[in-house]
Amino acid sequence: GHTMMEMYPELEQTEMFNELKRCMQERTASVFESDFYFPDNTQGWFELRIQPVPEGLFILSMDITERKRAQQEKEELLVSLEKKAAELQSSNIELERFAYVASHDLQEPLRMVSSFLSLLEQEMDGQLDVAQKEYIHFAVDGAERMKALVQALLQYSRIGTDKKSFALTDLNDSVQYVKQVLEEEIKKNEAVLNWKPLPKMVVHETLINQLFLNLVSNALKYRNKKNPEIEIGSTEEQDSYVFYVKDNGLGIEAKYYDKIFVIFQRLHNKSEYSGTGIGLAICKKIIELHNGKIWIESEVGKGSTFYFSIPKKIAL
Ligand code: ADP
Repeated sequence: GHTMMEMYPELEQTEMFNELKRCMQERTASVFESDFYFPDNTQGWFELRIQPVPEGLFILSMDITERKRAQQEKEELLVSLEKKAAELQSSNIELERFAYVASHDLQEPLRMVSSFLSLLEQEMDGQLDVAQKEYIHFAVDGAERMKALVQALLQYSRIGTDKKSFALTDLNDSVQYVKQVLEEEIKKNEAVLNWKPLPKMVVHETLINQLFLNLVSNALKYRNKKNPEIEIGSTEEQDSYVFYVKDNGLGIEAKYYDKIFVIFQRLHNKSEYSGTGIGLAICKKIIELHNGKIWIESEVGKGSTFYFSIPKKIAL
């Protein structure tokens, strides 16, 4: 029993009313969304479809509040996700800068420790007893190990997203490169390295060479009693290629599958096998720079297969 104007006196000031007036005067149709406050002050959203008819205007009003709320929530979520991603990226950049500076600046004092220890050993030659010589030896050994770790960290933190270096690369050349670099090791271990034809892809060639080098070196290093047999190949998926480097070496227990990709994590100690535990962490970082994934399947005593995927289209 009321007119709109009685119920909503402020209606005349709204955009909706202006649009209604325009449609009425110009006799044109219009579709628009409008928010609306009910007398109890709750907000709602309507989609209004206005059609001029001889009697005036025909208005179809649809309540789209639910859809609008869901859309608003989605937008808010997206904004907060983007904010989180930006925060994460800047904290990653800071961490990498920290790792770089720390490892770079640690080298100098470390050099001093080992060179003065060696000097001391030379000057005291003949005056040191066996135990004292051993103490110096342990100290030099510790400094050498720390040097290797610091250099590994430096190498790790230097791997960056140099987007300009991504180019179409024949991955057979990468394996050929690895074969050349490891020629001596392959001979020494009486190993066989076979590979099935690999595709050409847009990748960071130097980093992918490094990745293959690390995986094949490990396949030679963690060999079993049998002569190492290493096979490299790939399978084509819809949006990516999955590569594998398979060996017949020591193998790894399933509970360590994640651990081995973490920086400085090793399953063998330095007296058994030399190394710093950086090789697979570098592989992981390289693959993540290519927006891919790396994982392992293995059986203790039988061998391991390292898989990694590289998307056909890399978001640069
Ligand atoms: P590093 O070789 O310097 O220890 P990596 O990061 O390359 O560092 O490897 C981490 C650990 O994963 C190694 O210490 C070793 O225990 C294990 N590992 C890596 N590759 C293989 C492999 N092909 N077969 C068996 N174990 C492996």
